[in-house]
Amino acid sequence: MRNVADNDVIIVGGGFSGLSIAALLAQESIPVTLLEAAELGHLASTRNQGWLYSGAYFARRQRELAEMCYASFCRTVRFCPECLEPGQTGMLIGLMAAAADDWTAAWEAAGIPCHAVDAGEMRDAVPGSEDVWDTVFRLPDRSFRPTVLLRRLADVARSRGARIRTGIRVTRLNCHDGTVQSVETGDRETLHCSMVIIATGAGPEELSRFTACGVDAGAGQSLYARVAISTELVSLPRLSPDPFCFPELDGFNHLPHRLPDDRAVSVFGLDRWDVVSPSTGSSESAAAGTEILSRVHRLFPQADWPDDQVRCWRASTVQVMHADQTEPGLVPWPTVIDHAQEHPSLDNLFSVYPGRATLWSHLAEDAARRVVRRLKPVQSRLATPPWA
Ligand SMILES: Cc1cc2nc3c(=O)[nH]c(=O)nc-3n(C[C@H](O)[C@H](O)[C@H](O)COP(=O)(O)OP(=O)(O)OC[C@H]3O[C@@H](n4cnc5c(N)ncnc54)[C@H](O)[C@@H]3O)c2cc1C
Repeated sequence: MRNVADNDVIIVGGGFSGLSIAALLAQESIPVTLLEAAELGHLASTRNQGWLYSGAYFARRQRELAEMCYASFCRTVRFCPECLEPGQTGMLIGLMAAAADDWTAAWEAAGIPCHAVDAGEMRDAVPGSEDVWDTVFRLPDRSFRPTVLLRRLADVARSRGARIRTGIRVTRLNCHDGTVQSVETGDRETLHCSMVIIATGAGPEELSRFTACGVDAGAGQSLYARVAISTELVSLPRLSPDPFCFPELDGFNHLPHRLPDDRAVSVFGLDRWDVVSPSTGSSESAAAGTEILSRVHRLFPQADWPDDQVRCWRASTVQVMHADQTEPGLVPWPTVIDHAQEHPSLDNLFSVYPGRATLWSHLAEDAARRVVRRLKPVQSRLATPPWA
């Protein structure tokens, strides 16, 4: 491992975004140092629901995003099969008759394989759900273990020469003449850099720190709207072995997981996101957990669980939308912001947002392509990524 970080590309943040980009840049023989304030995957990357999306859920409104998501899904399965929760054959999706044709047409258009399944499978998986679906399909979506995929990405990055340092918080970017010259850390270390990639996600505290440094990606004139959003998840002792989703029931969904101590749990969520205040990190609504639990009671009328085994948590991520993407409620595309095009302009600063963890490989390739183009203008293409 190299010991000197001076003039490396510095990546700030060690979640899916930072680690996958570090792996690709190191593969291009670009000296890269990743600085993570806590431990790898500290924020959204390990507090999410562990739903490896096939893209099916987005297909009706965002066909191209769904296609991209399915490609990223397939890459993840090939690159790190050990991150998939074992024993699953896909997700049951329950649809009302009026919408079923639209959904299946959208899946077909996006190239996402689906097949109709016997109603009995859904009755077995979700006993009290008869009145919320007419027809059932199985899609490729799976539960995955984020920590396993993060570890694999970190191993690949390190093996190609990336330096990964944890417990190092970046507190300031020092800018001069339209470039970031160095970053400062909480330990008063100053690291000179050839380029900086901000991959800090939405931790509200982190967001305001960067605002204080005067390099908030959302400040000034920007082509991008950047909003921190959060949602609530509920974990209970395992109620069903199958992942399932009811798109017309606010996207109510279930992902079964096994915890490191071997307990089997069910993680439930709704497709309902609240805007988070960057200054306080809190959101207006915290009622989603109660709503989720009341739906679980309806769908599993016989189920019972001790109160001390109910776990509710909320986590945040950033939704970045280009000025062209004006329709609210859409899933944000994986986005790489080139601050050379922003105001104030910094020509060696990028910030990155995957939209969904599942889209990590697409984000990494897009970001690496742009960084390589900037640092090695004569090189026209990237080497084949380790996950391709
Ligand atoms: C509740 C919830 C559920 C979700 N469920 C899913 C799902 O099931 N499937 C899916 O595909 N996607 C899901 N997502 C989205 C997904 O989790 C995120 O898109 C993804 O994890 C973001 O990764 P990231 O690396 O960009 O950011 P993060 O994972 O947030 O990583 C940012 C890292 O930067 C570090 N950092 C911050 N500030 C600094 C600093 N100043 N110096 C150094 N380091 C710093 C943090 O400690 C953190 O480790 C969910 C998101 C949320 C909030």
